[in-house]
Amino acid sequence: LGMPSVPTKLADRRVSRKIQVGSVAVGGDAPVSVQSMTTTRTSDVGATLQQIAELTASGCQIVRVACPTQDDADALATIARKSQIPVIADIHFQPKYVFAAIDAGCAAVRVNPGNIKQFDDKVKEIAKAASATGTPIRIGVNAGSLDARLLKKYGKATPEALVESALWEASLFEEHGFGDIKISVKHNDPVVMVNAYRQLAARSDYPLHLGVTEAGPAFQGTIKSAVAFGALLSEGIGDTIRVSLSAPPVEEVKVGLQILEALNLKQRRLEIVSCPSCGRAQVDVYKLADQVAAGLDGLEVPLRVAVMGCVVNGPGEAREADLGVASGNGKGQIFVKGEVIKTVPESKIVETLIEEAMKIAAGMEEE
Ligand code: SF4
Repeated sequence: LGMPSVPTKLADRRVSRKIQVGSVAVGGDAPVSVQSMTTTRTSDVGATLQQIAELTASGCQIVRVACPTQDDADALATIARKSQIPVIADIHFQPKYVFAAIDAGCAAVRVNPGNIKQFDDKVKEIAKAASATGTPIRIGVNAGSLDARLLKKYGKATPEALVESALWEASLFEEHGFGDIKISVKHNDPVVMVNAYRQLAARSDYPLHLGVTEAGPAFQGTIKSAVAFGALLSEGIGDTIRVSLSAPPVEEVKVGLQILEALNLKQRRLEIVSCPSCGRAQVDVYKLADQVAAGLDGLEVPLRVAVMGCVVNGPGEAREADLGVASGNGKGQIFVKGEVIKTVPESKIVETLIEEAMKIAAGMEEE
């Protein structure tokens, strides 16, 4: 008898047009990508490249840099050339920086429709320059900077207002034959945000950049983003994601990757299956799980390690994992691929798990 089949994803992907952000495809059948934004002054090229290197190492696939001044615009060429991942210039008020970013070789440019009126006579020129270099544009609608006309029409940043704003600006580019566009419609309320993206998804085939804007400090922002992205991605909506946290950008990337891994939209790497502990626990499960997670941090192979507090669910979970421990009576039964390979005293559980994990990982890397 074969194993019962398990659904590996929640929904088919929405059909969207594919655009190319430097080396990373967004939309169509391209995997959902994770992006973040630097917090350095973009004009400080060294610090910005250093942060981009850290983001790249943490798994970030696309990075955005703010461009509020001429000094920042002047720095874009070096940053775009030296960054290992595609760089998107984030531009709010100044059309001249859009041209500078395109000339600098940025992989894409984000513009804000709240300010598009000032761009009116410039839209054609932007479309022309962006077409000539194959530079896509992200239309980044944000509740906080919604166009005044729409704010008046809808009273506040409703999903309808966000979507109307985005489609209107897209149409300004489309009028000039430019459709190399992705869109975001961000709001700090996940419910409004989810509704906005659903409507946008139904009304267009633009690839969508998901974001809950100003999501808050790390814990709250993580939950808001996970809930909102989870709702949309489980319906097949979303082509690239950015988690916004009031925390270092590497944290945003970690959260983004975990969301995709949880939804099976990205291959899971290290996964610790640990129990919440309860009155039956015979070891300190929290400490054990933390120590194992810390000891295996950075392991890139898809390894499932079970850390279980007692023998009730312990052996079962430990058997399902690549590796695991079921604890009891001051000892730990160590399982590898479902077989108990040894029983060690509690004090040796962590080092034994790490040792065995490294052996399995080395074998996986060879395959
Ligand atoms: Fe409690 Fe044991 Fe389940 Fe952990 S594995 S939650 S200790 S019953």
